[in-house]
Amino acid sequence: MPKITLPDGSKKEVPNNTTLYDIAKDISNSLVKVAVAGKINGQLKDLSVAVEDDCNVEIIKKNDDEGIEIVRHSFAHLIGHAIKQLYPDAKMAIGPVIKNGFYYDIDCNKSFNEDELILIENKIKDLVKKNYAVIKKVVTRQEALKVFSDRNEPYKQEIVQEIPEGEEIALYFHQEYIDMCRGPHVPNTKFLKHFKLTKVSGAYWRGNSDNKMLQRIYGTAWDKKEELDDYLKKLEDAEKRDHRKIGKQQDLFHFQEEAPGMVFWHHKGWTIYQLLKTFMRKINLESGYKEINTPQILDRTLWERSGHWDKFGDMIFTTHSEKRDYAVKPMSCPGHLQVFNQGLKSYKDLPFKLCEFGLVHRNEPSGTLHGLMRARQFVQDDAHIFCTESQLHDEITKLIKLTFKVYNNLGFENIKVAFSTRPEKKVGSDDIWNKSEKILENSLKENVPDYITLPGEGAFYGPKIEFTLTDSLGREWQCGTVQLDFSMPSALSASYINEKGDKASPVMVHRAILGSMERFIGILIEHYAGKLPFWLCPEQIIIVNITDKHVEFAEKIEKTFKDKGFRCSSDLRNEKIGYKIREHIIAKIPYVVIIGDEEISSNKISVRQYDGTEHKLISAEDFIIKLNSKKTH
Ligand code: ZN
Repeated sequence: MPKITLPDGSKKEVPNNTTLYDIAKDISNSLVKVAVAGKINGQLKDLSVAVEDDCNVEIIKKNDDEGIEIVRHSFAHLIGHAIKQLYPDAKMAIGPVIKNGFYYDIDCNKSFNEDELILIENKIKDLVKKNYAVIKKVVTRQEALKVFSDRNEPYKQEIVQEIPEGEEIALYFHQEYIDMCRGPHVPNTKFLKHFKLTKVSGAYWRGNSDNKMLQRIYGTAWDKKEELDDYLKKLEDAEKRDHRKIGKQQDLFHFQEEAPGMVFWHHKGWTIYQLLKTFMRKINLESGYKEINTPQILDRTLWERSGHWDKFGDMIFTTHSEKRDYAVKPMSCPGHLQVFNQGLKSYKDLPFKLCEFGLVHRNEPSGTLHGLMRARQFVQDDAHIFCTESQLHDEITKLIKLTFKVYNNLGFENIKVAFSTRPEKKVGSDDIWNKSEKILENSLKENVPDYITLPGEGAFYGPKIEFTLTDSLGREWQCGTVQLDFSMPSALSASYINEKGDKASPVMVHRAILGSMERFIGILIEHYAGKLPFWLCPEQIIIVNITDKHVEFAEKIEKTFKDKGFRCSSDLRNEKIGYKIREHIIAKIPYVVIIGDEEISSNKISVRQYDGTEHKLISAEDFIIKLNSKKTH
């Protein structure tokens, strides 16, 4: 009889063929009501699985992190079930779990619009109500192939063919529906309650644009109704803040089909861009970086030597001229090394810090492009530090502090830091990895006590630190990186003369704080719901006149603000004052200055703030003093 050990340390012997379900039931009736799966020696299993030998057993409840993932995964199968009932000719591809939800890729002649989603959603609700048992059956490859060929499911057959020899193939049944899955799944559809199908998009089979475009139905599922409602509310908020929507409303930028993934910046958007760039440029200069600019295309052989040709593969745009192959740069690092390599460097030149607003191109698959957040052409606030090992600790500490300072100045307080250590496949000796990981670790311990470690997640050329911001909706955005590199300096022959007069290889640190300028502006727009901090507003003040007799004074006031360096314009249209004010408030202009009879006779102004606050008859000088405190970050 197998002896099982439960998480609380208690042990007991159970009869042969005892399933995880039996164990849960034996523990308590209330547990079995919420049990969706279990773990045997740390491995997730269906409740129907029996324990065979002595082992550790854990029961997974529907509201555990792993439990809710199982619930979501089971929901994906329900999409399949519902789809096959509604559209018997549909062919099912894959249906995995994703963050907060699940999706299913489907090949179907019917195109799924919003009405269709509701139909499918209702069908799923019907199925759930039937409390179907979900039954797992382990089958041979031949059996699985037969099931899916009988059912005309070519994608499933393709997947079966690729399952490695020796791996278990499991089918899951609810009623007439059969799906294939590693599982585990909930034992009964009654666990599947609080869900919503959220959207449909196109997705190529296996993410390859040579394959057929399938339809991907997304959904979300939660343990409690309140959690689902909260999440849907968040989605709705996020939609309102969508930077693509605000970009259009505020006339900031646009995209068009002729340039997929590349931004057409309009004047107001480009103003934000330049302001952010100026802000970063100032910080770089203060921190001892020298700004440079390197070529947009470089000979292929350089990219081969740097390793980027292999690493980026199809992501590199290429071009040819006079029988030579060039790559449009996907990164600025090799260019920076060329600048470092000019002239002999000595230890006295180190740390040598270069920065560039590096315009890069990456051929991201068109299906993954997403406004400013994922583009094919973007600018990195890229920088490289060439230094000695003994300077590393200081430089890393400065970088961590600098990154926090930048984020705080831009309005982000909740910053998470992750430290990624050596992966299995790596370059450089263990000795150098030990040393450098220790340096990063020490610096992190001193500066970010609550950092987390991601073992094995480092780049093959060195360990790295990643910074993740949390925005006002609680969404996380990984932005900054600091990466040590033991590989590129020697690959591209960078060296310096050390104190002993010998040639030595510098350590190279890659760093970006904002990451992509485009993406960061997208994040800022969504974080602030389009109401950017005063210093980043493309239009800070607008003057409105009540009637034509106030035009002259309005123009005088506009000039006063402009002379003081504010971005200001006038709206002298012959429209009702209330209408004009409302329009500018909707456009999120921070201050609307109103000029009428009273203002002219007292030589003062009245101001209506974006948040509704009013300043009646204040002198322009006093108002400017107020504004000056907001002029910088
Ligand atoms: Zn780099």
